[in-house]
Amino acid sequence: MAYDENNIFAKIIRGEIPCDKVYEDDHALAFRDINPQAPTHVLVIPKGPYVSSDDFTEKASDAEIAGLMRAVGKVARDLGTVADGYRMLSNHGRDAHQEVPHFHIHIFAGKNLGRMIKPVDS
Ligand code: AMP
Repeated sequence: MAYDENNIFAKIIRGEIPCDKVYEDDHALAFRDINPQAPTHVLVIPKGPYVSSDDFTEKASDAEIAGLMRAVGKVARDLGTVADGYRMLSNHGRDAHQEVPHFHIHIFAGKNLGRMIKPVDS
């Protein structure tokens, strides 16, 4: 899948639409999800043009990959989520219901998040 330069997160990176920013560095941008699924729900995205985790892990440089993961850890710490716990999650493709075609890692925290996913037969 080719990268869509007009996806909503590309526009946020370019500053064409606003976001509720919580962190930014050379490789990553983090902002609050517009439709939060937990008291704390932040998205951490690479600044480079990667469609999903598949694209990112295949094509991004080691520095970009390290930069994004460092940013995830820093954001989680800075938001005070480490003591009680947080969940990081990323959706790739149809079955995972990826909506925005720019790689992003969700950070959820601020409540008991329950089990990770439903059992297979439910
Ligand atoms: P996913 O299903 O993993 O692709 O999740 C996409 C996420 O992006 C959803 O949780 C949306 O609520 C969130 N989202 C969509 N547009 C915006 C926006 N403009 N600012 C912040 N979050 C957004």
